[in-house]
Amino acid sequence: MSDLVSQWIREDIRALSAYHVPDPGEMIKLDAMENPYHWPQSMQQEWLTQLADVPVNRYPDPSAAKLTARLEKVMNVPQGMRSILGNGSDELIQIICMALAQPGRVLMAPEPTFVMYQMIAQFTNMDYQGIPLDTDFQLDMAAMTEAIEKYQPAVIFLAYPNNPTGNLFSSEDIKTIIKLAPGLVVVDEAYHAFAGHSFMPMLEDYNNLVVMRTVSKMGLAGLRLGILSGREEWISEFDKVRLPYNINVLTQFSAEFALAQNAVLQQQTDQICNDREHLKAALADFKDITQYPSAANFILFKVENITSETVFTALKESGILIKRFANNSGPLANCLRVTIGTAEENQVFIDSLKQFVK
Ligand code: PMP
Repeated sequence: MSDLVSQWIREDIRALSAYHVPDPGEMIKLDAMENPYHWPQSMQQEWLTQLADVPVNRYPDPSAAKLTARLEKVMNVPQGMRSILGNGSDELIQIICMALAQPGRVLMAPEPTFVMYQMIAQFTNMDYQGIPLDTDFQLDMAAMTEAIEKYQPAVIFLAYPNNPTGNLFSSEDIKTIIKLAPGLVVVDEAYHAFAGHSFMPMLEDYNNLVVMRTVSKMGLAGLRLGILSGREEWISEFDKVRLPYNINVLTQFSAEFALAQNAVLQQQTDQICNDREHLKAALADFKDITQYPSAANFILFKVENITSETVFTALKESGILIKRFANNSGPLANCLRVTIGTAEENQVFIDSLKQFVK
């Protein structure tokens, strides 16, 4: 690293390693919570035909008004609430942090959870406090209560269902946290489509709650699109920090097109939920596997009498990519996370696993 770079790039940024996404090549991709299905042929053709007329020479609608209205409908955003869109919900986390960050302000989240909360806290110079979940991966309410009192967090992120554990936290505990929190609570419902539980209807009940969702797990991960909904007074402030053209014309058009035929996406989601139950049943047959309850499109499981690293590598050699965890100690020790694929992909995964796990 040149002196110039080390002089000017912040020390904490220099100390980071870049977010690593493994190259899947031709592997069966069960690592990133994607929906494995594309659209029916006729829908694809129709989309391509209409796409030809999208004016790529023009800037997009800066507020993506038509798409926002469509998303609010699909996501059941209550009347009277407002929403903004992000280039993935990752960008919405960043927007929230940019608007709240100030030296000494705390972003809090239970742990283990989605790593971006901590990373973006760091990028935006917020202090991060991760509060360990209990042994069932539920919120440790004594620890959360104490931490809220001590750190007075500007924002608390609660992934519902949680990633990478897959479970829903107790909704009563979440309500208690919303009431105790001095600042904002973001309920991140990235996996809502598979969960059947939501805080969206409760936006009216709390003045410090916002709900975030994404279309990534509903089959549109490549479009990069998330939505943040809540009271006008919060959302209008976040909107000031949002870059004006953050949702490009191709995404605005394609998401609007796909969501107009939401039944197709819904059917895929139903299929994934169905296959999740089959995969749970298949994993239950392994003596050396403990799986954790999942309300999402992935399952976290722990292996015994073999290391997770060995399992990960053996699966990779069989052409299957799942998720391992960089830090193999603490609550995720010897754990792996598998995304629900097609029924065939899930079967290949189970058959491969049988070769080396009992
Ligand atoms: N929240 C949670 C809990 C997630 O697991 C993810 C993706 N892994 C995201 C948000 C980000 O989703 P996206 O940026 O694709 O909308």
